[in-house]
Order: sequence, then structure tokens, then C-alpha cells
Amino acid sequence: MKTVEKLHLTGLNASELAEFVAQIGEPKYRAKQIFKGLHERRLLSFDEMTDLPKAFREKLSETATATTLTVESRYVSEDGTRRFLMKTHDGLPVETVFIPTDTRDTICFSSQSGCPLKCDFCLTAKLGLLRNLTTGEIVEQIIIVLNDVYGVGGETPHGTNLVGMGAGEPFLNFENLIKALDIMSEEEGLFIVPNRVTISTAGIVPKIYEFAKLEKRPHLAISLSAPNNELRDKLMPINRRWNIEELFAAAKEFEKSLRRGERFTFEYVLLGGVNDSDEQARSLANLLNKYDLTRVKINLIPHNPAEQLDYFPSKTQQVERFKEILESRGVDAYVRRPRGRDIYAACGQLAAKNEPNLVQITV
Ligand code: SAH
Repeated sequence: MKTVEKLHLTGLNASELAEFVAQIGEPKYRAKQIFKGLHERRLLSFDEMTDLPKAFREKLSETATATTLTVESRYVSEDGTRRFLMKTHDGLPVETVFIPTDTRDTICFSSQSGCPLKCDFCLTAKLGLLRNLTTGEIVEQIIIVLNDVYGVGGETPHGTNLVGMGAGEPFLNFENLIKALDIMSEEEGLFIVPNRVTISTAGIVPKIYEFAKLEKRPHLAISLSAPNNELRDKLMPINRRWNIEELFAAAKEFEKSLRRGERFTFEYVLLGGVNDSDEQARSLANLLNKYDLTRVKINLIPHNPAEQLDYFPSKTQQVERFKEILESRGVDAYVRRPRGRDIYAACGQLAAKNEPNLVQITV
């Protein structure tokens, strides 16, 4: 385990880093060097920042650290997806997924260790909430994954898209999340701009309003998975706190904040015989039309089954029907292809599974 007391510099933005450097009596430009060392060169130790004097590196190491996460295992799927199981300094699991396609790379990061929401179809829910991740822990996930794929500080040929769709509810860790995204967008750092980022929420309504007001905000996805309160109450208990009417009022308000050409997404996990009937597809289309949501698309996510879950994927034919019914009513719908199912890396599968019999790369 790594030490806790030290300040994790990866979680400081440029001005906080400048303040820190001033406090320890060093010249201002050192802050810039450290920021670049951490975020552009993606170094995980001060010792490698050889543009800093040795004595200063030693001084830094006494009070601060460039890393708090350790990689416990890495799994590689037959489709090329990689799952990283990491541990925080206090021994809690953090999972991050690298999803390559021909044209772009996507990293799916976690905002919390475990998750407090009790969505009935999700494996992460079984962990409960362990704790919020710090800003530094959020940023470091991306650094670790990029280094693993492209080498330390190596160029990222496809650019990187980020999705806040790993473990946890991002909007219950709002401040740390937004600060992490801000740090990652810095040109002299990772330079992953908000336009390349999508955050998914299960429906923390007040935060949707707050998110809409942010000046530099990423894209938004909302997990819906049911067309009415009765069913959503059961599948996603957060609906008992903020129901579909409240959620859709917020979504409508969010729609007004969209930029030219931008849309937002509802995610709908298809559960065989539970939420995938023709009638439910029609209710879903009606709901969107009732709130006059026109700049929205629906991502239909095939359910990823697991032993501890009481649900099954929909039949392929029904998935197509569901999509067609939505489209016949003017709603854009896309069926998502599961990635990394064989290594517990797909949606709703992040449950800190450490299984030696999965294909693993030794670190
Ligand atoms: N808590 C946020 C961020 C997680 S995103 C949210 O719920 O939006 C993870 C996505 O995977 C969510 O859309 C969730 O509904 C979906 N999901 C959960 N369990 C799943 C499963 N077993 N199969 C497919 N998708 C699942």
C-alpha cells in the first residue's frame, strides 16, 4: 500500500500547484514543470522528472506523491478491450476499461469505489459504496491506462475519448469529477477536451441542472431503463428519490443547453421479458414525445448477465423490434455492442473481479 499522508499532486489544478510550489519556497516555473511532468509526460514518480534538480525532487518526495494507485491486475478480452483492476492507498478497488476501435480509443473510468445506487440489474451495485474517489485518483486512472497502452508519455495516435461510465455515480462525486475533467482538459497536460468526454448519470436531478450551467461541459448520458415509474422504482431505486417526471423536466432543461449539433443520450438496458416489450417501446417513444425531447438518442444496451443477477438479455429479434418501434415513432435508437464481456469489463460488470483464470497480463 502507498502512503496516505502525502499530497497527491495529480489532483491539483495548475493554480493549486503554483500555490503549493510557492509554499515550499520554490520558483513559480517549477509548478509548470511538475504539471507537465505529471500530465503531459505522464510520469508517476518525481525521480523521473530529470528537469528538476535532484535536491528538489527529494524534497518533493518527502511531502508529496505522483501516484496513489497500484495496478493489481490487467485483463485482456478477445475483442481487445482491457480491464484494469487497481487499488487505492487504503486498499479499495478502482476499475478502468480501455476500449479500442479502429478509429478511436475510449477509456471508461470510475468515479467511486463501489456504488451506492442499488440498480437491480448491475453487478457494481453489489459492492455498495466504498468511497468517493479523489480528483487525483480519477486523473491517475487515465494516466495509468494510457501509459500501459502507449508507453510512458507515448503519443496517443487516435486521441482519447473518455466516458464516466465505470463504477459509481459520477454526479454523487460532482466536485472531484468536474475538477478532474478540468485538469485533464489542460493543453499542457492530457489535453482531453470536454467535447471528447461523456458523463453518465442514473438521474441525480439537481446535478443535471448544475451540469447544464457549466461553461465547459462534457456530453451527458442518462440511464433510464424503464418507461414508467412503477418499473423504474423497482429497477433503479434512485427513481423513488427523483421520479421520471422530475428527471424528464431536468432533461428538457438540459436540452436547452446543448450546443449546435450536439445531442444527449438516454441509455436503456434491455432486460428480457422485463422492459423490452413492444408496448414498453411505444411508451418510451411517447414519453420522449410528451416532453418534446427532440435532440436525444437512445442507446439500447444488451444486458450483461451474471450469476448474481436475476435478469437475462433480450432475444436478438426483440432488440431489433424495440429499436424499430422507437424509430417508427421518430426516435433515434442504436443498439450497442457489448465490449469486454469475457473479462467482466462490459457495462454493469465492474465488480472488482480478480479471477486468475481470465487472460491476464502480468505487470
Ligand atoms: N451510475 C452511472 C454511471 C454508470 S454507467 C449510471 O448509472 O449512469 C453504466 C451503465 O451500464 C448504466 O447505463 C447502467 O444502466 C448500465 N448497466 C448496469 N448494469 C448493466 C448490465 N448488467 N448490463 C448492461 N448494462 C448495465
